[in-house]
Amino acid sequence: MNREQVKKLPKVELHCHLDGSIRPETLRKIAEPQGISLPEDPEQLKNLLVAPDDCQNLNDYLKRFDLVLSCLQTEDALKTAAIDIISQAAEENIRYIEVRFAPSFHTEKGLSLPKIITAVLAGLEYGQQQFGVKSNALLCGMRHEDLADIEKIVHLAEEFKTAGVAGFDLAGNEIDFPPYTFEETLGLVNQLNIPLTLHAGECGCGKNVADAVHLGAKRIGHGIAVKNTPEYFSLLKEQDVLIEMCPTSNFQTKTVTKLADYPFKTFLDAGIKVCINTDNRTVSDTTLTDEYMKLHEWYDLTYADMEQLNHNAVNGAFLSDREKELLHALLVSSY
Ligand SMILES: [Zn+2]
Repeated sequence: MNREQVKKLPKVELHCHLDGSIRPETLRKIAEPQGISLPEDPEQLKNLLVAPDDCQNLNDYLKRFDLVLSCLQTEDALKTAAIDIISQAAEENIRYIEVRFAPSFHTEKGLSLPKIITAVLAGLEYGQQQFGVKSNALLCGMRHEDLADIEKIVHLAEEFKTAGVAGFDLAGNEIDFPPYTFEETLGLVNQLNIPLTLHAGECGCGKNVADAVHLGAKRIGHGIAVKNTPEYFSLLKEQDVLIEMCPTSNFQTKTVTKLADYPFKTFLDAGIKVCINTDNRTVSDTTLTDEYMKLHEWYDLTYADMEQLNHNAVNGAFLSDREKELLHALLVSSY
């Protein structure tokens, strides 16, 4: 596979965090009018935003978000950030992307949750008009927050269903807050028929992945730890669960430390569906093209494999059947 060609081919991405994916130059534009000073030296700024090589674990990785979040507290900032993500997606011919964010992270200066969501959706919509990339938003509840606050986000996902919010996710500290902590909240998600994807098996045990599926998740963010519990493979297959793998991020968070432990092939050989994602373009210093090139380097991935991974993403996307058909057809005609 050749990098230019991989970049050019149409792709679909389902796991991309808004706050972790803003280009440093865009963050500068967002920070300036707010009087937030950032280091002038681009290298220095990048060092503040990118997870270091000696990142210890997921919680350490998540610390990289503090500076960005301090800048994402106005409607303009949120809209600009969303447009920036779509423009990056357009650059590498991503034709559909689901952008996720936790509304509760943006209330520091008093913005209301609906205003936050509206601002991000406005940016995604503008990006779609400007760059022709279709997108939807996913709202994240943060695991460390009060259940009542997470429930508010669930209700907002319902409220904004027809305005561009396609689903709900739980993100953040998985070790201290495993899936069953949220049994009731997720029951509400299912009752409201909100498509559900859950971060699981990113640092916790494989059982978290199975529990997430039992609690209604149609997709699993990362899912890496389930490799150690093959007794759950049949559950993933039977329920047709899609694993949203994010290779670079999975090494940074020390979910895996050596290539031999990365379960990409294990999952494929077991017949488990996976798709490929960036997680956080800036924090992980990557692009979707980079992620595919890594798989090519590691596993000799072919264009046919890449096409299949994108079909998997389309199948798991929180889109209508008609929209999925169009994307499948585009992939078939382009690869
Ligand atoms: Zn994630």
